[in-house]
Amino acid sequence: MAFKPANNIQDLQYFGEFGGVNPSISDSSTYTFLSAKTMFDTFEGNADGCYLYSRHSSPSNLYLGEALAAMEGTETANVSASGMGAITPVLLQLCDSGDHIVSSRTIYGGTYAFLKNFTPRFNIATSFVDITKLDVVEAAITEKTKVLYCESVSNPLLEVADIKGLAALAKKHNLKLVVDNTFSPLSISPAILGADVVIHSLTKFINGSSDTVGGVVCGTQEFINDLRNVNSGASMLLGTTMDSLRASSVLKNLRTLHIRMQQHSKNALYLAERFEQLGLKTVYPGLASHPSHTLFKSMMNAAYGFGGMLTLDVGSAEKANTFMELMQNKNLGYLAVSLDFIKRFLALQEAQHRPKFQKRNKKKWAYRKV
Ligand SMILES: *Cc1c(COP(=O)(O)O)cnc(C)c1O
Repeated sequence: MAFKPANNIQDLQYFGEFGGVNPSISDSSTYTFLSAKTMFDTFEGNADGCYLYSRHSSPSNLYLGEALAAMEGTETANVSASGMGAITPVLLQLCDSGDHIVSSRTIYGGTYAFLKNFTPRFNIATSFVDITKLDVVEAAITEKTKVLYCESVSNPLLEVADIKGLAALAKKHNLKLVVDNTFSPLSISPAILGADVVIHSLTKFINGSSDTVGGVVCGTQEFINDLRNVNSGASMLLGTTMDSLRASSVLKNLRTLHIRMQQHSKNALYLAERFEQLGLKTVYPGLASHPSHTLFKSMMNAAYGFGGMLTLDVGSAEKANTFMELMQNKNLGYLAVSLDFIKRFLALQEAQHRPKFQKRNKKKWAYRKV
Protein backbone atom coordinates (compact mmCIF):
# COMPACT_ATOMS: atom_id res chain seq x y z
CA MET A 1 0.00 0.00 0.00
CA ALA A 2 1.31 3.42 -0.91
CA PHE A 3 2.12 5.60 2.04
CA LYS A 4 -0.03 8.72 2.01
CA PRO A 5 1.55 11.27 4.27
CA ALA A 6 -0.76 14.16 3.45
CA ASN A 7 -3.77 12.13 4.46
CA ASN A 8 -2.16 11.56 7.81
CA ILE A 9 -2.02 15.31 8.32
CA GLN A 10 -5.63 15.79 7.32
CA ASP A 11 -6.79 12.98 9.55
CA LEU A 12 -5.30 14.57 12.64
CA GLN A 13 -8.11 16.09 14.62
CA TYR A 14 -7.24 19.08 16.69
CA PHE A 15 -9.75 20.82 18.85
CA GLY A 16 -9.09 24.06 20.59
CA GLU A 17 -9.62 24.12 24.34
CA PHE A 18 -13.05 25.66 23.70
CA GLY A 19 -13.85 23.24 20.90
CA GLY A 20 -12.49 25.50 18.17
CA VAL A 21 -11.57 23.93 14.84
CA ASN A 22 -8.10 25.37 15.28
CA PRO A 23 -6.10 24.72 18.42
CA SER A 24 -5.81 27.69 20.75
CA ILE A 25 -2.58 29.64 20.44
CA SER A 26 -0.41 29.41 23.53
CA ASP A 27 0.58 32.91 24.53
CA SER A 28 2.84 32.31 27.49
CA SER A 29 6.58 32.15 27.94
CA THR A 30 6.26 30.21 31.19
CA TYR A 31 3.83 27.86 32.95
CA THR A 32 2.67 27.50 36.52
CA PHE A 33 2.69 24.32 38.59
CA LEU A 34 0.28 23.37 41.34
CA SER A 35 3.06 21.74 43.32
CA ALA A 36 6.78 22.36 43.51
CA LYS A 37 7.41 18.62 43.09
CA THR A 38 5.80 18.58 39.63
CA MET A 39 8.00 21.48 38.63
CA PHE A 40 11.14 19.58 39.59
CA ASP A 41 9.87 16.41 37.90
CA THR A 42 9.29 18.44 34.72
CA PHE A 43 12.86 19.75 34.87
CA GLU A 44 14.02 16.15 35.03
CA GLY A 45 11.82 15.30 32.04
CA ASN A 46 9.51 13.11 34.15
CA ALA A 47 6.22 14.97 34.01
CA ASP A 48 4.58 14.15 30.70
CA GLY A 49 2.07 16.69 29.50
CA CYS A 50 3.42 19.48 31.68
CA TYR A 51 4.93 22.57 30.13
CA LEU A 52 7.87 24.29 31.71
CA TYR A 53 9.09 27.18 29.60
CA SER A 54 8.40 27.98 25.95
CA ARG A 55 12.01 27.66 24.78
CA HIS A 56 11.64 24.01 25.81
CA SER A 57 8.22 23.46 24.25
CA SER A 58 4.82 25.05 23.99
CA PRO A 59 1.39 23.66 23.08
CA SER A 60 1.35 25.49 19.71
CA ASN A 61 4.79 24.18 18.80
CA LEU A 62 3.82 20.67 19.80
CA TYR A 63 0.71 20.78 17.60
CA LEU A 64 2.77 21.80 14.59
CA GLY A 65 5.46 19.26 15.45
CA GLU A 66 2.88 16.46 15.69
CA ALA A 67 1.45 17.32 12.28
CA LEU A 68 4.90 17.32 10.68
CA ALA A 69 5.81 14.05 12.40
CA ALA A 70 2.61 12.57 10.95
CA MET A 71 3.66 13.81 7.52
CA GLU A 72 7.12 12.25 7.76
CA GLY A 73 6.05 9.10 9.60
CA THR A 74 8.31 9.70 12.61
CA GLU A 75 7.45 9.34 16.29
CA THR A 76 7.61 13.07 16.94
CA ALA A 77 9.20 16.35 15.86
CA ASN A 78 10.58 19.62 17.20
CA VAL A 79 9.95 22.90 15.36
CA SER A 80 12.51 25.70 15.26
CA ALA A 81 12.86 29.34 14.32
CA SER A 82 14.47 28.56 10.95
CA GLY A 83 15.75 25.69 8.84
CA MET A 84 19.31 26.42 9.98
CA GLY A 85 17.93 26.50 13.53
CA ALA A 86 16.94 22.84 12.96
CA ILE A 87 20.06 21.67 11.13
CA THR A 88 22.76 23.12 13.38
CA PRO A 89 21.47 21.72 16.72
CA VAL A 90 20.99 18.26 15.14
CA LEU A 91 24.61 18.09 13.98
CA LEU A 92 25.96 19.48 17.25
CA GLN A 93 23.80 17.02 19.20
CA LEU A 94 25.05 14.01 17.23
CA CYS A 95 28.75 14.94 17.14
CA ASP A 96 31.32 15.44 19.87
CA SER A 97 34.68 17.08 19.44
CA GLY A 98 36.84 14.75 17.32
CA ASP A 99 33.91 13.26 15.41
CA HIS A 100 33.50 13.21 11.65
CA ILE A 101 30.62 13.77 9.22
CA VAL A 102 30.25 12.47 5.67
CA SER A 103 28.11 14.93 3.75
CA SER A 104 26.88 15.35 0.22
CA ARG A 105 28.97 18.01 -1.51
CA THR A 106 25.87 19.61 -3.03
CA ILE A 107 23.81 20.93 -0.16
CA TYR A 108 22.19 24.20 0.85
CA GLY A 109 24.81 26.98 1.04
CA GLY A 110 24.21 27.73 4.73
CA THR A 111 24.61 24.07 5.70
CA TYR A 112 27.78 23.83 3.62
CA ALA A 113 29.20 26.95 5.29
CA PHE A 114 28.34 25.56 8.73
CA LEU A 115 30.14 22.27 8.05
CA LYS A 116 33.04 23.84 6.16
CA ASN A 117 33.75 26.93 8.29
CA PHE A 118 32.01 26.61 11.64
CA THR A 119 32.07 23.03 12.98
CA PRO A 120 35.88 22.75 12.53
CA ARG A 121 36.06 25.22 15.44
CA PHE A 122 34.67 22.40 17.58
CA ASN A 123 37.03 19.88 16.00
CA ILE A 124 34.24 18.29 13.96
CA ALA A 125 35.50 17.51 10.45
CA THR A 126 33.40 16.89 7.35
CA SER A 127 34.20 15.02 4.14
CA PHE A 128 32.15 16.27 1.19
CA VAL A 129 31.40 13.53 -1.31
CA ASP A 130 29.33 12.72 -4.40
CA ILE A 131 26.26 11.38 -2.58
CA THR A 132 24.97 9.63 -5.71
CA LYS A 133 27.88 7.15 -5.54
CA LEU A 134 27.42 4.77 -2.62
CA ASP A 135 30.93 3.32 -2.97
CA VAL A 136 32.44 6.82 -2.71
CA VAL A 137 30.27 7.54 0.35
CA GLU A 138 31.34 4.30 2.04
CA ALA A 139 35.02 4.92 1.28
CA ALA A 140 34.81 8.26 3.12
CA ILE A 141 33.52 6.68 6.35
CA THR A 142 36.13 6.45 9.12
CA GLU A 143 36.11 5.17 12.69
CA LYS A 144 35.23 8.67 13.81
CA THR A 145 32.25 9.14 11.49
CA LYS A 146 28.95 9.67 13.31
CA VAL A 147 26.66 11.17 10.68
CA LEU A 148 25.76 10.73 7.02
CA TYR A 149 24.21 13.99 5.83
CA CYS A 150 22.35 14.72 2.60
CA GLU A 151 19.34 16.38 1.01
CA SER A 152 16.78 14.09 -0.66
CA VAL A 153 16.89 16.43 -3.63
CA SER A 154 19.81 18.81 -3.39
CA ASN A 155 19.74 22.60 -3.39
CA PRO A 156 20.48 23.84 -6.00
CA LEU A 157 21.70 21.06 -8.33
CA LEU A 158 18.76 18.67 -7.84
CA GLU A 159 20.95 15.64 -7.22
CA VAL A 160 18.85 12.83 -5.80
CA ALA A 161 20.05 10.78 -2.80
CA ASP A 162 19.49 7.01 -2.71
CA ILE A 163 18.02 7.09 0.78
CA LYS A 164 17.53 3.32 1.10
CA GLY A 165 21.12 2.70 0.02
CA LEU A 166 22.45 5.36 2.38
CA ALA A 167 20.32 4.00 5.24
CA ALA A 168 21.85 0.56 4.71
CA LEU A 169 25.34 2.09 4.88
CA ALA A 170 24.41 4.03 8.00
CA LYS A 171 23.16 0.84 9.65
CA LYS A 172 26.25 -1.13 8.66
CA HIS A 173 28.62 1.48 10.12
CA ASN A 174 26.43 2.50 13.06
CA LEU A 175 25.89 6.08 11.84
CA LYS A 176 22.88 8.36 11.90
CA LEU A 177 21.45 9.23 8.48
CA VAL A 178 20.22 12.83 8.55
CA VAL A 179 18.19 13.94 5.52
CA ASP A 180 17.11 17.48 4.68
CA ASN A 181 13.83 16.98 2.80
CA THR A 182 13.09 20.67 2.13
CA PHE A 183 12.86 20.24 -1.66
CA SER A 184 10.55 17.24 -1.66
CA PRO A 185 7.90 17.33 1.08
CA LEU A 186 5.23 14.65 0.58
CA SER A 187 6.92 13.44 -2.64
CA ILE A 188 9.67 11.69 -0.69
CA SER A 189 9.34 10.33 2.86
CA PRO A 190 12.95 9.78 4.00
CA ALA A 191 12.10 8.24 7.38
CA ILE A 192 9.95 5.59 5.71
CA LEU A 193 12.97 4.83 3.48
CA GLY A 194 15.27 4.45 6.49
CA ALA A 195 16.54 7.91 7.48
CA ASP A 196 17.03 8.43 11.23
CA VAL A 197 16.37 12.17 11.26
CA VAL A 198 14.42 14.25 8.73
CA ILE A 199 14.78 18.02 8.60
CA HIS A 200 12.84 20.70 6.75
CA SER A 201 13.21 24.39 6.27
CA LEU A 202 9.54 25.27 6.81
CA THR A 203 10.37 28.58 5.12
CA LYS A 204 9.95 26.90 1.77
CA PHE A 205 7.17 24.66 0.45
CA ILE A 206 5.72 23.67 3.80
CA ASN A 207 4.69 27.13 4.93
CA GLY A 208 4.38 28.23 1.32
CA SER A 209 3.59 31.90 1.90
CA SER A 210 7.05 33.47 2.05
CA ASP A 211 6.01 35.27 5.23
CA THR A 212 8.34 33.58 7.72
CA VAL A 213 11.40 31.44 8.27
CA GLY A 214 10.97 28.22 10.22
CA GLY A 215 12.31 24.70 10.57
CA VAL A 216 11.60 21.23 11.94
CA VAL A 217 13.48 18.14 13.07
CA CYS A 218 11.49 14.89 12.76
CA GLY A 219 12.80 11.82 14.58
CA THR A 220 12.39 9.38 17.44
CA GLN A 221 10.99 10.49 20.76
CA GLU A 222 14.36 9.70 22.29
CA PHE A 223 16.31 11.93 19.92
CA ILE A 224 13.84 14.82 20.14
CA ASN A 225 13.96 14.55 23.95
CA ASP A 226 17.76 14.71 23.72
CA LEU A 227 17.54 17.89 21.61
CA ARG A 228 15.17 19.45 24.15
CA ASN A 229 17.01 18.24 27.25
CA VAL A 230 17.25 21.08 29.74
CA ASN A 231 20.86 20.24 30.66
CA SER A 232 22.37 18.97 27.41
CA GLY A 233 19.97 19.54 24.50
CA ALA A 234 21.34 21.59 21.60
CA SER A 235 17.91 22.95 20.60
CA MET A 236 17.11 23.93 24.18
CA LEU A 237 20.52 25.44 24.90
CA LEU A 238 21.10 27.19 21.58
CA GLY A 239 17.56 28.52 21.82
CA THR A 240 16.42 28.25 18.20
CA THR A 241 12.79 28.07 19.28
CA MET A 242 9.85 28.97 17.07
CA ASP A 243 7.35 31.48 18.39
CA SER A 244 3.88 30.11 19.21
CA LEU A 245 2.01 32.63 17.07
CA ARG A 246 4.11 31.60 14.10
CA ALA A 247 3.65 27.90 14.81
CA SER A 248 -0.12 28.28 14.68
CA SER A 249 0.16 30.19 11.42
CA VAL A 250 2.38 27.55 9.78
CA LEU A 251 -0.01 24.81 10.97
CA LYS A 252 -2.88 26.48 9.13
CA ASN A 253 -0.82 26.76 5.93
CA LEU A 254 0.10 23.08 6.21
CA ARG A 255 -3.51 22.14 5.43
CA THR A 256 -3.09 23.07 1.79
CA LEU A 257 0.37 21.57 1.33
CA HIS A 258 -0.87 18.47 -0.51
CA ILE A 259 -2.75 20.58 -3.05
CA ARG A 260 0.11 23.05 -3.46
CA MET A 261 2.71 20.31 -3.96
CA GLN A 262 0.62 18.57 -6.59
CA GLN A 263 0.30 21.85 -8.50
CA HIS A 264 3.97 22.82 -8.01
CA SER A 265 4.94 19.44 -9.49
CA LYS A 266 2.51 19.80 -12.38
CA ASN A 267 3.78 23.30 -13.21
CA ALA A 268 7.43 22.29 -12.95
CA LEU A 269 6.98 19.22 -15.15
CA TYR A 270 5.11 21.28 -17.75
CA LEU A 271 7.87 23.91 -17.87
CA ALA A 272 10.71 21.37 -17.76
CA GLU A 273 9.27 19.45 -20.72
CA ARG A 274 8.78 22.64 -22.77
CA PHE A 275 12.21 24.04 -21.93
CA GLU A 276 13.86 20.73 -22.84
CA GLN A 277 11.93 20.61 -26.12
CA LEU A 278 13.24 24.10 -26.88
CA GLY A 279 16.74 22.73 -26.52
CA LEU A 280 17.60 24.32 -23.16
CA LYS A 281 19.72 22.31 -20.74
CA THR A 282 17.04 21.47 -18.17
CA VAL A 283 17.49 19.60 -14.90
CA TYR A 284 14.32 18.19 -13.35
CA PRO A 285 13.94 14.80 -11.65
CA GLY A 286 10.70 14.24 -13.56
CA LEU A 287 12.50 14.24 -16.92
CA ALA A 288 13.75 10.90 -18.26
CA SER A 289 17.02 12.72 -18.99
CA HIS A 290 17.70 13.29 -15.27
CA PRO A 291 20.41 10.83 -14.15
CA SER A 292 18.33 9.83 -11.10
CA HIS A 293 14.89 9.83 -12.71
CA THR A 294 14.39 6.11 -12.07
CA LEU A 295 15.73 6.33 -8.53
CA PHE A 296 13.36 9.22 -7.72
CA LYS A 297 10.47 7.20 -9.15
CA SER A 298 11.37 4.23 -6.96
CA MET A 299 11.25 6.42 -3.82
CA MET A 300 8.36 8.78 -4.53
CA ASN A 301 4.79 9.02 -3.31
CA ALA A 302 3.51 9.24 -6.88
CA ALA A 303 0.51 11.49 -6.19
CA TYR A 304 2.79 14.42 -5.34
CA GLY A 305 4.99 14.31 -8.41
CA PHE A 306 8.64 15.18 -8.85
CA GLY A 307 8.58 18.45 -6.92
CA GLY A 308 8.48 22.12 -7.75
CA MET A 309 12.16 22.80 -8.47
CA LEU A 310 13.86 22.81 -11.84
CA THR A 311 17.11 24.35 -13.01
CA LEU A 312 18.04 25.74 -16.40
CA ASP A 313 21.49 26.29 -17.83
CA VAL A 314 21.12 29.00 -20.46
CA GLY A 315 24.85 29.22 -21.13
CA SER A 316 26.06 32.36 -19.39
CA ALA A 317 25.34 34.50 -16.33
CA GLU A 318 24.40 37.35 -18.62
CA LYS A 319 21.78 35.33 -20.46
CA ALA A 320 20.50 33.95 -17.14
CA ASN A 321 20.08 37.47 -15.78
CA THR A 322 18.24 38.63 -18.90
CA PHE A 323 16.02 35.57 -18.75
CA MET A 324 15.14 36.08 -15.09
CA GLU A 325 14.41 39.77 -15.60
CA LEU A 326 12.24 38.93 -18.58
CA MET A 327 10.25 36.41 -16.57
CA GLN A 328 9.74 38.90 -13.75
CA ASN A 329 8.71 41.61 -16.22
CA LYS A 330 6.16 39.21 -17.72
CA ASN A 331 4.88 38.59 -14.18
CA LEU A 332 5.90 34.95 -14.26
CA GLY A 333 7.67 35.03 -10.94
CA TYR A 334 9.98 36.89 -8.62
CA LEU A 335 13.64 37.55 -9.07
CA ALA A 336 14.55 36.58 -5.51
CA VAL A 337 16.26 33.88 -3.51
CA SER A 338 14.15 31.20 -1.82
CA LEU A 339 11.43 29.03 -3.28
CA ASP A 340 7.91 27.73 -2.78
CA PHE A 341 5.75 30.80 -3.09
CA ILE A 342 2.54 30.57 -5.07
CA LYS A 343 4.36 33.00 -7.35
CA ARG A 344 7.48 31.28 -8.66
CA PHE A 345 10.98 32.29 -7.70
CA LEU A 346 13.52 32.56 -10.46
CA ALA A 347 16.93 33.15 -9.01
CA LEU A 348 19.65 31.46 -7.08
CA GLN A 349 22.42 33.89 -7.88
CA GLU A 350 21.33 37.30 -6.80
CA ALA A 351 24.31 39.31 -5.65
CA GLN A 352 25.64 40.91 -8.78
CA HIS A 353 22.43 41.93 -10.45
CA ARG A 354 20.55 43.22 -7.45
CA PRO A 355 21.77 46.85 -7.60
CA LYS A 356 20.74 46.99 -11.25
CA PHE A 357 17.37 45.58 -10.41
CA GLN A 358 16.84 48.14 -7.67
CA LYS A 359 17.82 51.01 -9.94
CA ARG A 360 15.44 49.88 -12.64
CA ASN A 361 12.66 49.74 -10.10
CA LYS A 362 13.56 52.96 -8.41
CA LYS A 363 10.02 54.00 -7.69
CA LYS A 364 9.14 50.66 -6.22
CA TRP A 365 12.20 50.65 -3.97
CA ALA A 366 12.44 54.35 -3.11
CA TYR A 367 10.61 54.04 0.17
CA ARG A 368 13.26 51.69 1.47
CA LYS A 369 15.93 54.36 1.14
CA VAL A 370 18.44 51.86 -0.21
C1 LIG B 1 16.47 27.28 2.75
C2 LIG B 1 17.05 25.98 3.05
C3 LIG B 1 17.62 25.70 4.30
C4 LIG B 1 17.72 26.76 5.38
O1 LIG B 1 16.49 27.13 5.89
P1 LIG B 1 16.20 28.56 6.57
O2 LIG B 1 14.76 28.44 6.94
O3 LIG B 1 16.50 29.61 5.56
O4 LIG B 1 17.10 28.66 7.75
C5 LIG B 1 18.10 24.44 4.54
N1 LIG B 1 18.06 23.49 3.60
C6 LIG B 1 17.55 23.70 2.38
C7 LIG B 1 17.54 22.60 1.39
C8 LIG B 1 17.03 24.95 2.05
O5 LIG B 1 16.53 25.17 0.83
